[in-house]
Amino acid sequence: MDVKLDNPIYKIVGEAADRLGVRAFAVGGVVRDYFLQRHCTDIDIVCVGNGIELAKATAASISPNIEVAVFKNFGTAAFHYHLGGETWQIEFVGARRESYNRNSRKPIVENGTLEDDQNRRDFTINAMAVSVNHDTFGTLLDPFGGIRDLDAGLIRTPLDPDITFSDDPLRMMRAIRFASQLGFYIQDSTFEAIQRNAERIRIVSMERITTELNKIVLSPKPSVGFKLLEKSGLLKLFFPEFCNLKGVETVEGRGHKDNFYHTLEVADHVASGSNDLWLRWAALLHDIGKPATKHYDPKLGWTFHGHEVRGSKMVKKIFTRLRLPLDNKMKYVEKLVLLHLRPIILAEDEVTDSAVRRLLFDAGDDIDDLMTLCEADITSKNEEKVRRYMKNFKIVRQKLVEIEEKDRIRNFQPPVSGEDIMRTFGIPPCREIGTIKDAIKDAILDGAIPNDRHAAWQMMLEKAAELGLEPVGNPTTNATSSQDSPADKA
Ligand code: ATP
Repeated sequence: MDVKLDNPIYKIVGEAADRLGVRAFAVGGVVRDYFLQRHCTDIDIVCVGNGIELAKATAASISPNIEVAVFKNFGTAAFHYHLGGETWQIEFVGARRESYNRNSRKPIVENGTLEDDQNRRDFTINAMAVSVNHDTFGTLLDPFGGIRDLDAGLIRTPLDPDITFSDDPLRMMRAIRFASQLGFYIQDSTFEAIQRNAERIRIVSMERITTELNKIVLSPKPSVGFKLLEKSGLLKLFFPEFCNLKGVETVEGRGHKDNFYHTLEVADHVASGSNDLWLRWAALLHDIGKPATKHYDPKLGWTFHGHEVRGSKMVKKIFTRLRLPLDNKMKYVEKLVLLHLRPIILAEDEVTDSAVRRLLFDAGDDIDDLMTLCEADITSKNEEKVRRYMKNFKIVRQKLVEIEEKDRIRNFQPPVSGEDIMRTFGIPPCREIGTIKDAIKDAILDGAIPNDRHAAWQMMLEKAAELGLEPVGNPTTNATSSQDSPADKA
C-alpha cells in the first residue's frame, strides 16, 4: 500500500537520505495518525544508519539557520520546521535493536535493521513505517498488521506481550492511554499480560506514569481509561484513593451508589463540554472524601457528611504523589472539591440572594466551572429528579448573573481597607481590623448594606464604636477618598 505523504519535509528527508546512501522512513505515531486522519505535528524519522547525520543533512538543505539539537547519548537529533503557519518537530534516530535488563526500563541499544526497530515498538498500530527514499517513496511497511488493527480498533503488541510489558512497563500505561484516546479495545491476551505484569509499573518514574494518566484524563471519555486502569490492577498501585471509591455496601437491605462509577460518569459529563485538564481533575476528585466519611445511620441511611471538606484536604497528598503541580492549579481543584455541593444545596432550597452572594464570593472567577461540575454531578436515573435539579440550576445561574451585575461580588475587594481603618482610628495592625472588615463583608454578602464605599464607611464607624474605638480627626471626610472600591468605579 502507498501512503500519500504530502508534507514536503518527507521529500527533503528522502533526498538527504539518498545523498548519504541510507534508507529512511517515517515511523510510529505519525503513520498511525495519518491513517486515523488525526492531526500530528511530531514526525519521527528512523534511518538505517546514522540518524544524527541525516538530521544535519536534512536541516542544512532547508536552511543554514536551522538549529539541530543533538542528543548524542541517545543517538537522536531533532529540529523544528515551520510550514503553513505551523511548527513541526522532526526527530531522527538510527534504526536500533534493544535488549532489556530486569531492573530498568532503559534498554541496552545496538544498531539494527528496520525490522529490529519495528520489533522494539510498543503496539502494532505504532510499528508501521513509510519509506521516504526516492525509489520507494510512500511505500508502507507494516509487518505486524497495524492497518488491520487500526481498522478493527485493536491495541496489540507486536511480540509476546509479557516480554513487551516486562521490558518497559510504561507500555502498560500507554496501552490503556491509546484505548482511552482512540476508543480502541485492548486485545484479550495483551490485556491479560498487563494484569500479570502490573506490579512492574513500580520501576517507572511517577512523572512518566502521570504524563500518560493526564492523557487519559484528557481523552474523550476518561472513564474508558480509568476502568481499564482499575481492572488491570495498575490504578491501586499509584492512586489507591480512587480504587477505594469502588463498591457498594449494604446494611439492612439499603445500599449506596457505587462512587467509582458515579465519579467516572461525572468526569465523562464534564469531558463532553470542557477540555480543561484541571476541571476534569476536579470532577475525578470531587467525591474522593466519600469512603473516609461513609456512615450508616438507621434513620437517614448512608451519609457522607463533610466529604467535600475531607476530599479537598486529600487533594494535596494525591497531587504530591502523582507529581502534579502544587501551585494555583492544585488550589483550583481543592476549591472546586470543597465547594462542589454548594450549588446543589442552593438548588434544593429556595434560592436566596444572600446565598447566591456567598457562593459568588467563595467561588470567585471559578463560579462557571463550579456550576459545570455541579450540573455534571447530577447522575440520578430518576428523570423527574434530574429535571427538577436542572430547572433549579437554571434559576441559580440566572440569579448569579443578576446579582453579580448588581453587587459585583465575584472579584470582591473590601470597599474599606485595613489601611483605612488604621488611619481613621490611629491604631496599629491588630485583631479589631479583621473584625471590622469581616463585619462589613458579611453585611454586604447578607444584603444588609450595598457593596459601596460610603455604606461600608458608615458600617466601619458603627462597628468601631462598638469595639470602643474613636476616630482621630474628621472621620466622614475619608469616605469618598482615594481608595475607591471597584463598585464605586463602575
Ligand atoms: P502521542 O503523539 O499521542 O503522544 P505517540 O506514541 O505517537 O503518542 P511518542 O510517545 O512520541 O508519540 O512515540 C512515538 C513512537 O515511538 C510510538 O508511536 C512508538 O512507535 C514508539 N514508542 C514510544 N514509546 C514507546 C515505548 N515505551 N515502547 C516502545 N515503543 C515506543
